[in-house]
Amino acid sequence: MSKKNINLSSVKGTHDILPHEQFVWEKLRKGIRHVAEIYSFSRIDTPILENLDLFQRGVGEATDIVEKQMYTLTTKGGDKLVLRPEGTSAIARAYIQHGLSHMSQPLKVYYDGPFFRYEQPQAGRYRQFNQVGFEIIGGENDPIYDVQVMITALRLLESLKFKNISIHLNSIGCKACRAIYKKKLLNYYKNNKKEICKDCNRRMLDNPLRLLDCKDEHCEAVKKEAPSIIDDLCTPCRKHFKEVLEYAEELKLPYQIDPFIVRGLDYYNRTVFEFFVEIESADGEKTTSLALGGGGRYDYLFEILGHRNTPAIGMAFGMERIVEAIKACNINLLPRQKNKIFLIAIGIEAKKKGLSLIEEFAGSGINVSESIGKNSLGAQLKASDKEGASWALILGQKEVFKESVIIRDLKTGVQETVLLKKVVAEIKKRL
Ligand SMILES: [Zn+2]
Ligand SMILES: [Zn+2]
Repeated sequence: MSKKNINLSSVKGTHDILPHEQFVWEKLRKGIRHVAEIYSFSRIDTPILENLDLFQRGVGEATDIVEKQMYTLTTKGGDKLVLRPEGTSAIARAYIQHGLSHMSQPLKVYYDGPFFRYEQPQAGRYRQFNQVGFEIIGGENDPIYDVQVMITALRLLESLKFKNISIHLNSIGCKACRAIYKKKLLNYYKNNKKEICKDCNRRMLDNPLRLLDCKDEHCEAVKKEAPSIIDDLCTPCRKHFKEVLEYAEELKLPYQIDPFIVRGLDYYNRTVFEFFVEIESADGEKTTSLALGGGGRYDYLFEILGHRNTPAIGMAFGMERIVEAIKACNINLLPRQKNKIFLIAIGIEAKKKGLSLIEEFAGSGINVSESIGKNSLGAQLKASDKEGASWALILGQKEVFKESVIIRDLKTGVQETVLLKKVVAEIKKRL
């Protein structure tokens, strides 16, 4: 082994979730399980490793994800694999592989877990990140499911106490009407060729809809005057979109039509949407919108993967984005402070008694923390203070001898000696 110092930072674009940050994540996971149950989504877990061609085909070759963001690897056996960059293709793969179309349809599933994209890390954006997604697959191609996915996502954000949530909603039509629109869009951009960035000049050739995704400020300016796809929707697509809007009205979804939401991936059609929350600056003067995620209909994905035509709609949130937004909005999700019990034991006999006492409390469903490894009373009291405990149970030689224990109220300092066999009942009274 070389003596060179090891790099002890986490890999660029990855991050630790430390013990004191876990409560927000637990709150988020709880919220996910809760809304999933309300709207009858069952959990599905798929592997982190998938075959490379699943995403090349599913997501599409001319997308940022496949072009430059995938972590690919070749196994010793020569298989080309990828660390999954998104969830939907993998779930479609599992649906086909396991014949899930034979279960009652539509199938409603949700997932959460780590995903991987090689891109420039920035606030709330990581190379290894967590995503939660909801998918409704199979059954009828009914706009009601489009709205059901959105309401599930909305309720999740509401359960996390977000206010000022908005849904930017659009329809990108089907193969037929989108082709007409793409031509119109291309013509428009051809006339503004000099104004747009290098990437967009390339997008004109391989993925014109992506022109509307560009965040470059010159391109943003050009986009403002671009033709809107909604004007070119064919009759069935127009009808579908109209019904989506009617259901959205019925449920009072906080939506606005945004003709420039296209979502970058090949498999989307018709309904597409993105979720935003408004965040106030510290002085309350400025608000910025933070994008938390989005989704859409992907009726073509199953055909792209060689299966029969299967209607489907889904959405995903970046979980780190949500956690960042919770911080930025100053949302307090801290649990109500519970009264904590702390055991202090001095000497080997007291430690023995103390251990069985912890078990006895555990049997009654009460957690007792301790720091018995420390020897002195002072050090253990200090530890109880750090934990923010309400009561200390103190066992010394004298207490062991008398089969008793001291209960000390750590706020007031008042203490009382009770018999060991009565201490659980006594503490229960105080809780
Ligand atoms: Zn159409
Ligand atoms: Zn551009």
